[in-house]
Amino acid sequence: MLLPSIDDLGDVRGKRVLVRVDFNVPLADRDGEKVVTDDFRIQSALPLFRDLQLRGAHVTACTHLGRPNGEVNAEYSVEPVRRHLNDLIEGVELLENLRFNPGEESNDRAYGEALTDSFDCYVNEAFGVSHREHASIMVPPTLIPSAAGPNLMREVATLTGLLQEPKRPFVAIVGGAKVADKLGITKVLAEKADAVIVGGGMAFTFWRAQGHTIGSSLVDESRLADVSELLNTGRVFIPTDVWALPTGEPFGSGGVLAPTLFEDDIPEGFAGLDIGPRSSERFAEIIKNAGTVLWNGPMGVFEDPRLESGTRAVAEALVASPAISVVGGGDSAAAVEQFGLADLMSFISTGGGASLELLEFGDLPGLKALRGVE
Ligand code: AMP
Repeated sequence: MLLPSIDDLGDVRGKRVLVRVDFNVPLADRDGEKVVTDDFRIQSALPLFRDLQLRGAHVTACTHLGRPNGEVNAEYSVEPVRRHLNDLIEGVELLENLRFNPGEESNDRAYGEALTDSFDCYVNEAFGVSHREHASIMVPPTLIPSAAGPNLMREVATLTGLLQEPKRPFVAIVGGAKVADKLGITKVLAEKADAVIVGGGMAFTFWRAQGHTIGSSLVDESRLADVSELLNTGRVFIPTDVWALPTGEPFGSGGVLAPTLFEDDIPEGFAGLDIGPRSSERFAEIIKNAGTVLWNGPMGVFEDPRLESGTRAVAEALVASPAISVVGGGDSAAAVEQFGLADLMSFISTGGGASLELLEFGDLPGLKALRGVE
């Protein structure tokens, strides 16, 4: 996909450049002051800021932060982010939270025009938001010369390249909680990939479709037919054993009971919450022989140490495999981070939702806006 680059903006000396970034970073209170606790997203934007400054441009960044729902709310002010940014680089301004104005999320043209008004050029460096039709993503490219930032370019090139000519065997791993959200992408992947591994809460809809009982595990009964169709492709692999906890036992934090392993049916009164050792071993074997692995969504409730073993096994198999490993953002990225394996993956996408939509539909609203296509 050909996106306009910074070079296509021409000579930006003396020009005012608006850069849309995704500085939706975690904050915490320290000694009565809010501070940034993970500045990965801010650090990632610095090369672009430096490049623009070296070219002589005046750089102003803009971002959303949390969900203030269109109202000014000091709780969601970007001030702590601004302080952090100023410590890292001089001369880059940061506008106040875009979502303080309801026009941002409703893609209000007048709001987008007002935002763009005092700038000569626009750069989108917010891949993780580019699936959203929000004013700061959609409107500036219709008004002033616009370009894709280098991180956004890299995300798009990596993800689209993955579907075009993956090094085979191409193995996709999908997990997480919501089968409805991920069924579309699972279907696309079942066509493109040589094998699709399904784990996490999603897997129980597949178990159910095979006629197993699943106790109180997550399930989407309305999707059983779709899921059966996927299973019939013969390329979809699901767990053959699962760890479960009694229904009502807290998980995530606060729980004490040890999980029970089920290899077939899960009885009433239990919920499946992680893949079992036999499944982990089988999945690791598939991953070991892969040329490319795309991973989106954990195999279990990895935030709870009792239920992390399946997700850890998959992450470790990826590290041990010579495959190109692309981790599709969100929770899987958090999991590899938790295991200290993030640096060993080939590529970690910053946008979970955006990366899935790009893989499923081959394009995103924000990318279309940059290319000037409907
Ligand atoms: P998603 O946002 O759909 O990718 O879901 C990610 C969340 O799914 C993580 O927070 C996991 O804790 C959770 N999860 C993974 N496996 C299960 C499961 N078997 N049952 C319930 N939640 C799960």
